[in-house]
Amino acid sequence: MPKAIFVDTSRCTACRGCQIACKEWKGFPAVPTKQRGSHQNPPDLTHYNYKLVRFNEHKIDGRVHWLFFPDQCRHCVQPPCKAVSDAYVPDAILQDQATGIVVYTEATKKLSAGQCKEITEACPYNIPRRNPENSMLTKCDMCIDRVQAGMIPSCVKVCCTGTMNFGERADMLALAKQRLETVRRAHPGALLVDPDDVGVVFLITQPKKMYHKYVERELSPLTRALFARLARPARTVAG
Ligand code: SF4
Ligand code: SF4
Ligand code: SF4
Repeated sequence: MPKAIFVDTSRCTACRGCQIACKEWKGFPAVPTKQRGSHQNPPDLTHYNYKLVRFNEHKIDGRVHWLFFPDQCRHCVQPPCKAVSDAYVPDAILQDQATGIVVYTEATKKLSAGQCKEITEACPYNIPRRNPENSMLTKCDMCIDRVQAGMIPSCVKVCCTGTMNFGERADMLALAKQRLETVRRAHPGALLVDPDDVGVVFLITQPKKMYHKYVERELSPLTRALFARLARPARTVAG
């Protein structure tokens, strides 16, 4: 059964527990924080930061508001990153048939720097990052090792506010619609971001342009062409 994550940003306190839990589960190193005029740290996703709580500050109705967005790969239903990668190194990127999770394998090391750049540009959410030390292309794998062992993703497990939710895709979409109805009482412009196209569905309370650039699904001409021809069957990832 396809799995999904529902991220209800109306409940996020920016504690960054999810960001740390991801690093902890993956065994990634800590990075010293640096004040750059924002509490967002690090400034962007990296090959050892698959999860990043983004901060945006705005004045709404005369009051300053922080908009928090715990960013990560959306596990697209039809992933354009895979379509581009397959043209160079077939199945370096896999989509698990059972869950729909999109996984980058060791074979991404065979992709050149230019090919990796092309893959990142094809991603509507600007997610993949290349590891300069081993040349592997990287991103969130929805903790597929945990999911296949019957556990929930690490970032979901640690979130105690109800922002991060994980389960069957149908259940997550139902929960997202239910929460949207409730949240709209206080925020009439609240919306779900691309719910039909992704496996990680975000609920946001303000217009997309008030968050970071790639909240809005940005389709390059290449990605548009890919979406037009994407219809291949998914491959299963070995457990
Ligand atoms: S753990 Fe939950 S509340 Fe904390 S930053 Fe992450 S999503 Fe937000
Ligand atoms: S969000 Fe980007 S990296 Fe993730 S599956 Fe979609 S295209 Fe690939
Ligand atoms: S699902 Fe796993 S890999 Fe993805 S952001 Fe959460 S903790 Fe990191």
